[in-house]
This record gives sequence, structure tokens and C-alpha cells, in this order.
Amino acid sequence: MSDPLYQKIVIKVGTNVITDNRGELDLQILEELVSQISELRSRGVEVFLVSSGAVAAGRAKVTLNEDLSPIAARQVLSSTGQIRLINTYTDLFEKHALKIAQILVTKSDFRDRQHYLNIRTCLESLMKYDIIPVINENDAVSVTELMFTDNDELSGLIASMMHVDAYIILSHIDGLFDLSGDEKPPRLITSVDIATEHFHQYIKPGKSEFGRGGMLTKCHIAQKLSRFGIAVHIANGQTPGILLDLLDGKAAGTRFVPQKPVYGRKRWIAHSEGLEKGAVTINTGAEKALRSQERANSLLPVGIESVLGAFYKGDIIRICSENEETIGYGMARYSSEETKELMGKKGAKPLIHYDYLYLMP
Ligand code: GLU
Repeated sequence: MSDPLYQKIVIKVGTNVITDNRGELDLQILEELVSQISELRSRGVEVFLVSSGAVAAGRAKVTLNEDLSPIAARQVLSSTGQIRLINTYTDLFEKHALKIAQILVTKSDFRDRQHYLNIRTCLESLMKYDIIPVINENDAVSVTELMFTDNDELSGLIASMMHVDAYIILSHIDGLFDLSGDEKPPRLITSVDIATEHFHQYIKPGKSEFGRGGMLTKCHIAQKLSRFGIAVHIANGQTPGILLDLLDGKAAGTRFVPQKPVYGRKRWIAHSEGLEKGAVTINTGAEKALRSQERANSLLPVGIESVLGAFYKGDIIRICSENEETIGYGMARYSSEETKELMGKKGAKPLIHYDYLYLMP
């Protein structure tokens, strides 16, 4: 048997992979996935498992009246269902003599660097003890604006935080299909190299099967992570042996080719969308300097046109272009008040140092 293609991976399992057509947890599929993960563990692969399915598992057990708001309903179903989900995993992994741990997180847990590092330390310690972390969003407490878009986003954060080699998104479809033309059946795209092509070219404009957790979000996350140097696979979790095939390097699903790696703080900052405390608008000269391929430039106060919101030194802020498009995120060296005093002036130290700056593709 050859060495596995990757040593450290995040596997994200979607609700539709592990539930049957009545919406109940599908034990056969779960068993098959757990047995593949156990084989990967025995071949030395470190696995972080992110599993959805709490809400579905709750729905199969609790019947709700219509008097609950959608948020309250989600809280009730997820908190009930998460127990069932994790118990099922515990039992299945136990058959392979493997221990698991339950980690429930919210988006705001990733907000400040210290908290982010705490989660990382916890996951590293579990790895040391050969315990598989089974991660999910803490749906009982994370509501609306501080929710992850979906578990694809949460898993992407874990993948970049843990510096994995690959992020495997298991859904109930085979991967990204070329829906741009009229080809029937549509062609499966086996590989996307974002250095030379854009996944949007395969997506039919106006097609709206791309809701929460849909293909569009998956591709956006895949694009972001491949920019960090992580390989991303989108594949069908119900195909028997899919994980083993992927790790054996066999073609399956869609692979986003990893680009040059990005490390450390920049990764954390890159995931700060929606968590920023304020924003600055910069002029075109400054934007050009930031995007320069020849030099690594920091954001200087001289290029700032306006300051929005209130932030303090050390907070993450959004950077907007003159026409108000978000072009990136960074950690501020000055408060919003200090920035207002310095903006447009020459000679001051950068508001955002290059090492603390992440620009959008
Ligand atoms: N956290 C939700 C659950 O366990 C799922 C979110 C998602 O599917 O992305 O049911």
C-alpha cells in the first residue's frame, strides 16, 4: 500500500450525506465513513471531523408546534439532536477502538486571536492523545448575525487554523459540474486551478440551487483555502470507499489545486469577514500599492480617505476601495480616532502592516 496522499486532513460531512430520505441518521452510511476514517488513522493520517446533522437528528426525535420562531426551533432541534449525533459517532468509533471528542464552536469563538489559539491548542492536544475531534457549530447559542454561513465555512476555518494538507467536503453530489452549457448529462469538473481559471465559468448565471451550504459557498471556500496552499476536494460522501480513494490519489470528485502557502496571522485575518469592528476607505494609489506584485506594501495613513465605525488598536478592520468594494482585512495599529487625525498625512507609520494584511483575490 502506498503512503496516503495527505497526512493531516479536515473532513466535512454534510447533513444530506448522513441522513436517509426520512431525514433520520443513516447508520449504514455513518458506519462506512467511520470505518474509512479508522483505516486512515491506522495509516497515520490525522483527521479532524466536522459533522453536521444535529438539527436533522433532533427533527427525527422532537415534534415542534408552530409557536416557535425559526431560531428557537433550530436551538431546540440542534441541542437535542447533537446528543444523538455524537452518541452515534461514539458508538461507531468505539467498534474500531477509537476515542472521539465533541467540540462545539460559534463564529465569535474565532474573533480574537487568543480565543482562536485556545481552540487550536485544544485540537492539538486531542491529536496528541489520538482522539478524533468531532466538531460542529454550537447551534444552540449561535444565532443569526454571528452564525457561520454553514459548516463548510466552519470547516474551512478549522482547516486553515490546523494547517492541514487537505480539506475534504463530502456532500451528496459528486462534485462541481459544468452547468454553463447545455451538455447532458453535465460534465464533472475534476480539477480547478484558480491560478488559471475561475469556477464561476462552470456555474449557470441565475441558477439558484446554491443556498446555505450549496455548491457556490463550497466553491468560494475551496477557492479561499486553495489560495492558502490547502488542497480542497468536493466529493460524494455516499460513494463507498470515497475517502480511501481520495487519499490513495485516485481521481474522484472535484479537486481545487493548492497554491503557494499562506501562514499564521494572515490566515486568521482572512477569516475575519463579518467580525470586523470598523472600516477604512482608501484611494486608488494606496490600493495599487497594496496590490503590487513587486513589493510587499503596508497600508499607510496617507492613502486613507475615510474611517467608518469605532475600533481600537489591535482590532480587525475592513479595507474598502474608493468605490466601496471590500478589498481586504487587516489588524489596525491605531484606533479609529487616531486614524481620523492621521489620514491623508505623510510620514506616519502604517495603519496596517503588511504582515497583518489580507487582500481578497
Ligand atoms: N450545524 C448544523 C447541524 O448540525 C448544520 C449546518 C450545516 O449544515 O452547514 O445540523
